Amino acid sequence: MIPTVEILSTGDELLTGQVVDTNSTWLMDRLWDLGLMVRRKTLVADDRTDLQAALREVTSRADVVVMSGGMGPTEDDLTAECVAAVLGAPLELHPPSLEAIARRFQHFGRPMTPNNRKQALFPRGAEVIPNRFGTAPGFSVRVGRALLFCLPGVPLEYKGLCDEAVLPRLAAGLESVPAGRVVKLFGLGESAADQTMRPVMDDPRNADVRFGYRAHWPEVHVKWTVSGPAAATRADRIRGEVRALFGEAVWGEGKDELPPLVVERLLARGEKVATAESCTGGLVAQLLTSVPGSSGAFDLGVVVYSYEAKTELVSVPAALLAAHGAVSEPVARALAEGARARGKATWGIGITGIAGPGGGTPEKPVGTVHLALAGPGGTSHLQRLYRGDRDRVRRSTAFEALFLLLRAMR
Ligand code: ATP
Ligand code: MG
Repeated sequence: MIPTVEILSTGDELLTGQVVDTNSTWLMDRLWDLGLMVRRKTLVADDRTDLQAALREVTSRADVVVMSGGMGPTEDDLTAECVAAVLGAPLELHPPSLEAIARRFQHFGRPMTPNNRKQALFPRGAEVIPNRFGTAPGFSVRVGRALLFCLPGVPLEYKGLCDEAVLPRLAAGLESVPAGRVVKLFGLGESAADQTMRPVMDDPRNADVRFGYRAHWPEVHVKWTVSGPAAATRADRIRGEVRALFGEAVWGEGKDELPPLVVERLLARGEKVATAESCTGGLVAQLLTSVPGSSGAFDLGVVVYSYEAKTELVSVPAALLAAHGAVSEPVARALAEGARARGKATWGIGITGIAGPGGGTPEKPVGTVHLALAGPGGTSHLQRLYRGDRDRVRRSTAFEALFLLLRAMR
């Protein structure tokens, strides 16, 4: 039987808009890999009455509840106390946790204050989850019909304890862990992806397969999980079908990320890229150079905004700029070729466009971008009209440039 899972996140800051509850979205993604979808998520402020009510409610409904936050030493950290109240059990000191907390303070040379003792108090019957990422241990305990996990809210600690204690325990309770696969696409939206996926999704053989999308803008990820016998073989067969349906739009799978993949491919081929960017302000260079080891794959990146910079640094002919304007196909091509020549690189990327919000005209509206890639086989060019604000246009453009380069290296 597949357990129902709910998430309960607590913290005033989550309800004032100061902090986004990223813990739960992270966990949902992890649970999906186990074939588990979270049924509900509840956000509650640091308030005794609300917390106890929420605890009663979720533990009467779900098989597993993962709670986050309220495990600190201060007045507003109420989790252990409220769980104990709901259980009708006392809080008890857990000496090994107290020792661990004392050691941690000693290690960092900070004095331990009396309220830190609170973090070693747990409802009677709870199983303590040691925390090697921070001070507050977590705990698990049966409440109502549910197995309740209480974890610290600090994302690093929350994720660490989920990985070490919660997810393995959930996986062990499943009859079989389903096989999950992800294929990553570029250049089409979720609805287009959904349309293309119909033949696979409507295939009667896949009736029990769970399909989903993740809009990881500007990418789209298509994912599916298969349970039961031969899950891995079936998941792989679907992967073959999905890849065939999407063809060129597929750039990666699983944990692949676009910038590292581009760098890896360049390194494997012993090639380098140089960039001349206008509207992206160096974003392509930034994405590439964030990858460790990129120095072997990246030569030169320039941000050329003015006409003068374009002519002086990457030899865009002034006549070209005068005749076509900066945002044009000939200038994008000249930028790519200029960067390639200047960097003595195998590949040159040239980008020019109107990121907005101002600067658009009827002929060249905001979002108009010209991208060019110069390489051993000549120069290719793309014209795009991206939607969205300045940041979105810039990001879309930069990822599209990386995608263009990756495809050219196939
Ligand atoms: P602490 O010992 O630090 O008090 P705690 O378990 O009481 O830990 P909180 O006080 O709720 O946790 O939050 C600690 C930090 O973690 C805060 O900086 C908060 O912004 C962040 N945080 C809390 N809950 C979440 C969440 N659901 N998603 C992302 N960040 C969170
Ligand atoms: Mg706290």
